[in-house]
Amino acid sequence: MVISLIYTNTVRQLSYEFLNHETHETVRQLGYVFFDHSFFSCLFMLFMVKIQPKSTLSTQSYLHRFFAQRRAAGLSPNKMARFCNLRFLFIRRTALLAALFAALFCCAPQVFAQSRVRVDSKHWSPKNRQRPVRKSTQYIILHTTEGGARGALEKLSRNGECHYVVDTDGKIYSIIDKRRVAYHVGLSMWKGRTGLDAFSIGIEIVGYHNKPITSSQFQSVRSLLFELKRTYRIPDDNVLTHSMVAYGNPNRWQKKRHRGRKRCGMLLALPESRAKLGLRSKPSFDPDVRAGRLVDADPELSRMLYMKAPVVSDVALMAQRSDSNVIGPGRTAWDIARDLYRSKETVYIFPDGTRRTGAEITNWKAMQSGTRVEIGGITENATEGILTIGVDGTVQDLAGDEMTAHSTIYFSSKNTAQYRHGSSLTLAEIDGLPKGTKMLVGYSIGGPVSSRLPVFNICSVKWNRPDTFYLDPCGKLISGDQVNEKNIKAGSMVFYRP
Ligand SMILES: [Zn+2]
Repeated sequence: MVISLIYTNTVRQLSYEFLNHETHETVRQLGYVFFDHSFFSCLFMLFMVKIQPKSTLSTQSYLHRFFAQRRAAGLSPNKMARFCNLRFLFIRRTALLAALFAALFCCAPQVFAQSRVRVDSKHWSPKNRQRPVRKSTQYIILHTTEGGARGALEKLSRNGECHYVVDTDGKIYSIIDKRRVAYHVGLSMWKGRTGLDAFSIGIEIVGYHNKPITSSQFQSVRSLLFELKRTYRIPDDNVLTHSMVAYGNPNRWQKKRHRGRKRCGMLLALPESRAKLGLRSKPSFDPDVRAGRLVDADPELSRMLYMKAPVVSDVALMAQRSDSNVIGPGRTAWDIARDLYRSKETVYIFPDGTRRTGAEITNWKAMQSGTRVEIGGITENATEGILTIGVDGTVQDLAGDEMTAHSTIYFSSKNTAQYRHGSSLTLAEIDGLPKGTKMLVGYSIGGPVSSRLPVFNICSVKWNRPDTFYLDPCGKLISGDQVNEKNIKAGSMVFYRP
């Protein structure tokens, strides 16, 4: 019992800190076996060991024999009386053990809740070591993989893009250590706070945003949420879907920063889904749209996310509509593919049968009605980073109303080492930017990096994100996932999403 208590409090923590993942997992699994099957049996054995010699005889006859032996040995009545105390000692010990049992039964739900959620670490991500530990955890974000389990597990694990994956049979896989940062939400905002990867845990549920998940998945996610909410003291209102928190920078169709970049996990926001997940409350409006920080680019989606009581026909109609992958009047490539519209894994099949990937299309205005869109691969979190004028689109296409913003940065096409904020350029100057000019939308700049100003002090856990960029003194732009702490050149400037 003592060992098992020490295990809960110390060994588990130490194994997290000092052991590699495999050893830690072994210790954890052993812990589960220990708790599930041996904890109470150990206690029972302990009890039996103490009681056994006496309980072979009845207590009375045991004491009777004991006193008879003592009397034969010629002990005085006084000493006998002292031995009589033994009987009380025995009673006290029994009472003590009974109290211990009672206490353990009372706290059993807490002890066992931890082992109720079984997690398989077969798909543990190789990115774990590179990921910093989060300073605070305030949200849990629910996602749908938009593809089958095999591909999703492989890709999410390779890129370290979530903490847990819940398969259709309810099996839970851990991908990134729950205490570390996983890149699962990308461009995100909630109550004015951006970059939610640094404050949240991401659960990917194998399935689609417009199809209900299985009952085994509901059960597993419910237990997982129960454990995580308790561990991090997260209120039900802070369990959100990816579609609630994702936002997009301007594009060809949206001139402003907008909500609606993702429909990921949207059905999980419905009142009946939340009830099945054991969530009692949910946000009743979008705080960032209400405050004017974002515009609502998908009113249909927001109606679904924040509805109090679902209108069944509404839900069915919307699910059906978002099933349609054909461009037509009132249905653009963005409506169908959202931020994946330009991805090389998104394929457009024109009415004449020609196929083009999103990366090959330049004239989006001329997209024909009847073009079918296939969102291929599992590109949940395509990172949109450096954009090139003339290749990815016009300035207007790429930055919309943000083209004169301080957070839009243009790099000189002749010398990348020179860059300017959108706010320091006139509209005419921006219009005159040559083809091939590189730009970033929605970025902050920090630096230069030096021994006095390490990169962690500039952008904290974002320092090695794929959408953080370093401009070294020679004018070379390097993505954050290609640097390590030692090879960042002194004097580099850091461009990161705030
Ligand atoms: Zn998602």
